[in-house]
Amino acid sequence: MQLDILKVGNPLLRQISEELTFEQLATDAVQELISNMVETMRAVSGAGIAAPQVGHLLRIAVAEVEKNERYPEMPELPLRIWINPQIQVLAPRPEVLMYEGCLSVPLLRGQVRRPGAIRVTSWNERGEEQVDEFRGYLAAVAQHECDHLDGTLFVDRADPKTLCHWDEFQKHVPQEERMLLIS
Ligand code: ZN
Repeated sequence: MQLDILKVGNPLLRQISEELTFEQLATDAVQELISNMVETMRAVSGAGIAAPQVGHLLRIAVAEVEKNERYPEMPELPLRIWINPQIQVLAPRPEVLMYEGCLSVPLLRGQVRRPGAIRVTSWNERGEEQVDEFRGYLAAVAQHECDHLDGTLFVDRADPKTLCHWDEFQKHVPQEERMLLIS
């Protein structure tokens, strides 16, 4: 089932989400939420979605990138389901400087600088431990999604002078400046 996505201004997007216990994760309700999140992300061509964006204050995020029309420059990422994710920065370089967008902040892009080499330690949807390491743009995607679990939106981290409406972004930000790796 496709879920409604909360928009910036909704106080739930600013809350800290709760960790799941193994028992909670195993419930039909949470399993259904996870599959609905995946369905919703795909339906709206998002690169990822976090549970607070659909009104649940639980530490769940999903991500997937395959020829994403909202992010044509992005490398592909097979479906990831992160339960209780923790991010560790692996190196000070590279940094990713990328115009991010968010399903909860429609039509806005802004340039965010983030560590570009990270490790995500989490459970999968069955509660099995998993470790993902990302270098480059996908590191930014993972951090963006995990930020949602702490009530942080990309606009909090963006250089305010780079914020732009989608139409102006398309007109004025050249393709080669949309995603930069600083090594
Ligand atoms: Zn977002």
